[in-house]
Amino acid sequence: MRGLQDIWKIGGFLADQNGDGVPDRVNVSMELKEGCVPQGLIDFCGRLGFETTALSFGFLGHERAQWHVVFRSSLEETFCALQGREVVFFYKTISELDELLLFLSAAWPGELAEYKHPICKVKLDGKAVIVNDELKIDAFYRDENTAASKKMVITGLTDIWNESGFLMKEEPSPLKETNVSFDFQQEPSLSLLKQCCYMAARIGMSSTKLHFPMTTGKGGGFSFSCRASQKGSPAVLVKGTGVELEGSEDSLLDMMGYLANAVHVSEGGDFGVWEQLPTANEEEELLFKLEWKEEPEIERAKKELASFLKGYASPAQLSAELFISEPLSERNRLKQELASQYGLRNVEVHSAFKPAYLWIEEKVLPRLSLYEGNAHSIEIECVKESREDCLELPIRWIQELYPVDLLIEKEIGISADNIRFSLIDEAESTICVKLLDDQGQLLIMESLNIPVSKMKYVEEGKFTYPTTGQVVVKDGEHILFEKRLPTDRELFYQYYQHEVLPLLWKETWNRTEGQGFTKPLFDRVEIEAAMSEEERRLNIDEERISSMEALHEDLYFNTLDYFTVRGEKEFGNGFPAPGGVYPFMKSEKGSRPKAKITAYKWRERDSGEAVTTKLVFDQSGAPVKAILERVEDGKTFERDIGTSDFKRDFRAVLDRHKLDAGLVRQWIPATSYNGEKIPVFEMVDRIEEQFFSPIKCSLFKPTVLIEAGHHANEVSSTPAIIELVQELSTEESSLLKKVNLVVIPCANPDGARLHDRMTADNPEWKQHAARYNAVGLEYAHVRYKKTVFGEADVVPLIMKRWAPDIIIDDHGIPSHEWVQPFAGYNSPPRFPVSYWIPNALIYGIGRELDGGQYPGHVHNLSVIADRIDQKLKGTDIYEKNHYWVNRVKKYGHQWLPDIFPIEQTNDLLFYKWKTETNEDSFNGIERYPEWVCADIISEAADETVYGEALDICKKAHKLFDLAIIEAAAETDTSFFAESSESVIELRRQRPLRLEGVKRNEEVTINRL
Ligand SMILES: [Zn+2]
Repeated sequence: MRGLQDIWKIGGFLADQNGDGVPDRVNVSMELKEGCVPQGLIDFCGRLGFETTALSFGFLGHERAQWHVVFRSSLEETFCALQGREVVFFYKTISELDELLLFLSAAWPGELAEYKHPICKVKLDGKAVIVNDELKIDAFYRDENTAASKKMVITGLTDIWNESGFLMKEEPSPLKETNVSFDFQQEPSLSLLKQCCYMAARIGMSSTKLHFPMTTGKGGGFSFSCRASQKGSPAVLVKGTGVELEGSEDSLLDMMGYLANAVHVSEGGDFGVWEQLPTANEEEELLFKLEWKEEPEIERAKKELASFLKGYASPAQLSAELFISEPLSERNRLKQELASQYGLRNVEVHSAFKPAYLWIEEKVLPRLSLYEGNAHSIEIECVKESREDCLELPIRWIQELYPVDLLIEKEIGISADNIRFSLIDEAESTICVKLLDDQGQLLIMESLNIPVSKMKYVEEGKFTYPTTGQVVVKDGEHILFEKRLPTDRELFYQYYQHEVLPLLWKETWNRTEGQGFTKPLFDRVEIEAAMSEEERRLNIDEERISSMEALHEDLYFNTLDYFTVRGEKEFGNGFPAPGGVYPFMKSEKGSRPKAKITAYKWRERDSGEAVTTKLVFDQSGAPVKAILERVEDGKTFERDIGTSDFKRDFRAVLDRHKLDAGLVRQWIPATSYNGEKIPVFEMVDRIEEQFFSPIKCSLFKPTVLIEAGHHANEVSSTPAIIELVQELSTEESSLLKKVNLVVIPCANPDGARLHDRMTADNPEWKQHAARYNAVGLEYAHVRYKKTVFGEADVVPLIMKRWAPDIIIDDHGIPSHEWVQPFAGYNSPPRFPVSYWIPNALIYGIGRELDGGQYPGHVHNLSVIADRIDQKLKGTDIYEKNHYWVNRVKKYGHQWLPDIFPIEQTNDLLFYKWKTETNEDSFNGIERYPEWVCADIISEAADETVYGEALDICKKAHKLFDLAIIEAAAETDTSFFAESSESVIELRRQRPLRLEGVKRNEEVTINRL
């Protein structure tokens, strides 16, 4: 340091240990002697802490440090002098020393920061300061505590050190304004003063705006009052806007030392551990339990046929054509049985699920393969779906064929590019396949007529026309008998729609405030169904033929729609959160269709929350008893303070993933509804100190928040983020020199458990019913609200603790076709665009605020999209993205561009989602546009994938997230300090304006 003007800088009383340019350690030791107890040292230590991101106690002792502060009495005057490695405070009286210390804390160096000569002496002279005995200027500091505009909030004693640092903040903000004072009934002992100094340093560190002085109880801030008393047990209690410490001199010292050193339970300490109360294990309450079974469709088909054929003496010239929803082996068995039983001329048994695709696979391909050599291209004509009242898209028969071009290419070698679809307004048959030679001459033509049934959808006047079963008997081309035959799935779905849903509605009509919105109408409905159905992987991408997966999706989404539509109709407000809908579907070859439906009641749960109003200590200085007050009803009760399991397994997650504790800290801010702890990983450059301040780290560097695993059936982000954290915590990575990273590796543990349960039976299904929380709630919607769903509290608490600049929310989309035969053979009608097939391996969505008012935010989105595109270029992910965009163009976009929209930045699919600011929003950028600079969603095709398919989604997520982290890291955060009167504040540029990729070519934006 040049002189005393640099004491508050790195090289002065602060050090930068890890070389990232940010102060992260105290670089001074101070020596106090009995008889000299300057309360101004509390202010001085408050400032010392304020200037750093991390510190350890011990600087008021003999700890080795670069600088040394000593106090010497003087008969002449009070001043501060730089002598070699020592800063010496000469004092005439303690009160003059207090005044000098306060001045140096609150107003130093002010304009003298630019003074070009080394300052070796500082002295106060009334309202002026004299430096080096030559320059006299006005000291602008005034000894008045200008109270913080807002009262500091305290709900209980443990708020002193809570999840967000020092004291609760009502609303997240990068500004952490603190107005604290220490007040003593009688002169503190030297030891008590030291503990107060440590406390002040830690409070200063947790603040970005600090009020002075910290030593008189004036103003509207928060006070620590020390009262000497010999009566009763020593205790700390909440009193007014502050806490009071009461006890003997020794006890006061112990208690202040305890508070100064306390580490909140969410950070792995034991402060507040006694507030974690065991939750009562209540019995579950049933709403109803139902059983359903039906005669198998095979038996029903046989009966139909038998009753028609019994009048025929010689059925040998007849042929039968059936559609049933059964696996191929069952259909073949039926075919043989019928042929031998009746001696029919011909029997065809088509699948009633995905009939068009399976007909080509089973019947058409063997015929086409006879033309090998001449075959060049294929045209598939599909009748256009044009019923006015249907949910099906006009291209539904093209969708029903998916991914037939790849099947044909694989089986008979005609390039998928030479297999084209066309839509025909009116046609004899549903599907017509034409094989052409290289001159365009027709070689062979095959066609199929597919039966559909008509079913009501939940919405009034809306119908769906799912493919259905049928029995047809023909004599030549002449139809003798034709009868629709509902499939097992249809019968069950009809039962569910007409019996179960109305019952569920009826059982939950008597609802209380918030039910159906911020909490569910019912806890959950479990639907266990088993039927004989096709269940097969296709070995084309991640595709499969799975009618029970389709049923799972229909049951789940159509139930949600039912409660939306019916709520709207009867109460003018749809219920977005009816409850958990758990379809456990099984396909069991040859089994009789059956189902069990169990609905459970939602029970209001006491949050069990309690705040500490008093801590009682024993004579050895340890807390032994807590007095708590229940939030629910204000009742008080006592708890003995013992040990807890909480601490023991605190590090388990870090250890399991072999994460370097010097770079990755674990913080557990919340517990899920079902009681699972939700850890957050916090990454800052290596800090070895006892304490650090997240909000202060965010002040010095941009902070990126990544939420992974929000929707539990989207499986790649959690393992991806853990790998990314591992990679960023190796010595080779230097990103943490420039950026802080906060990660929620598994945001929805209850959903993850449900997903585990569902994948136990069907590991490769999309399992959308496991995307939300334990009771089927999209818990993002209850963020920033008082709720029993702890998973919703994590992001708001991170916003308080870190005030991140960028929010990334990692999501996923289906890895294979998403079909719901009972909702229009498409992804659910509730979505304005189709998610029927993946449109990319990974793509992005950015929430875009109005460009007139927020041009920086719009700029940031463009920068991010471009950076992700550049990051993916040249990788296998880039090729996969290209592949999927072309698939979507071929199957959807070319026919229905609004339903299959394509919006690209260069080659990356990146959608800009227009949005507006809203202070009640649960989304970061809408709620805090003044400091959140970008809010991005990723979507990888990961529902539900394993092995290689999972690996590439993980890689895609890592690169996607990394591109954004790098954008933050390469952006300069211009930084400034501000002092006025008795307040000092540190601030930086917010919202950030992100730095783009440096190169020459233009960025192209494509909206198709
Ligand atoms: Zn999602």
